[in-house]
Amino acid sequence: MEEREDPQIIDPTDAVIRITASCICGSDLWPYRGLAPLPGPSQIGHEYVGIVEQTGAQVATVKPGDFVVGPFVASGDGCEICQAGFRSYCPNRVEMPTIGTQAEKARIPFADATLIATPGQPGAELIPSLLACSDVLGTGWFAAVSAQDGPDKSVAVVGDGAVGRAAKQLGADRIIAVSRHPERQKLALEFGATDVVAERGEDGAAHVKELTGGYGAHSTVEAVGTTESLRQAIHATRPGGNVGYVGVPVGAQLDPMELFASGVQLAGGVAPVRRFLPELIQLVWDRKINPDKVFDLTLPLDDAAEGYKAMDERQAIKVLLTT
Ligand SMILES: [Zn+2]
Repeated sequence: MEEREDPQIIDPTDAVIRITASCICGSDLWPYRGLAPLPGPSQIGHEYVGIVEQTGAQVATVKPGDFVVGPFVASGDGCEICQAGFRSYCPNRVEMPTIGTQAEKARIPFADATLIATPGQPGAELIPSLLACSDVLGTGWFAAVSAQDGPDKSVAVVGDGAVGRAAKQLGADRIIAVSRHPERQKLALEFGATDVVAERGEDGAAHVKELTGGYGAHSTVEAVGTTESLRQAIHATRPGGNVGYVGVPVGAQLDPMELFASGVQLAGGVAPVRRFLPELIQLVWDRKINPDKVFDLTLPLDDAAEGYKAMDERQAIKVLLTT
């Protein structure tokens, strides 16, 4: 933990926000463990909710005092990629880890296109759920949409309890949680999973098939990113079905022949969370969903180091940091 200069407005499209809450993501553990080398002391964190303090001259949709939620990639909304709904791939994007939101304040580029103001000031009880929209729920939503989840479908979810919440909201009638971690299984059941499959690899895929009339799931969400979880997701899906993958496949290997032979369709990548934010914020605001259960430890920002340690040692799934 270090003191830094307060962020300032640099471009007229910037806003500076006072961060109410941020959290530690599984991907923050890569640099923590030294697996993603850093040039030196660096800011970190990309999930955030907060209150606008200052806006640049061109910012029109948010104003000082607004409570805002933003995605982990800031972008404009004018280019063809953004217009198509893939703002996380905008050529002009600013990735929030380069800003660092595990902090008291942050500069948010392209504030108009990036931030969404909530309908009013949220009570403290809503803040964790709003924060979950910033990445984990938005990413889960994108995964479920990419897997073409929908009414009357069977959905297998490999790896992340929170994604099952999205699957349920999109109307899936059977949600099969594939995880061998008891904590994640428990979370998935709380979020609406109807079945749990604990076996790994081929056995796990076979169990999903058994639960879906021998065909495999219509839709499978892959939220881990290992060779094994990708293969399991593909093999658990019926021919003609869809896999939505959002687990970052660092070092994973996939044989194109295996994908070809499976007849499943693969879609995913870096979730364009901003596309889903207005809908997700409204669902949270109306108390229709409460994704706050993804956080199992809350610490003050000053104790962030303790939060990293807890996640590194798997004593916590996801840590919320309050400012
Ligand atoms: Zn763009």
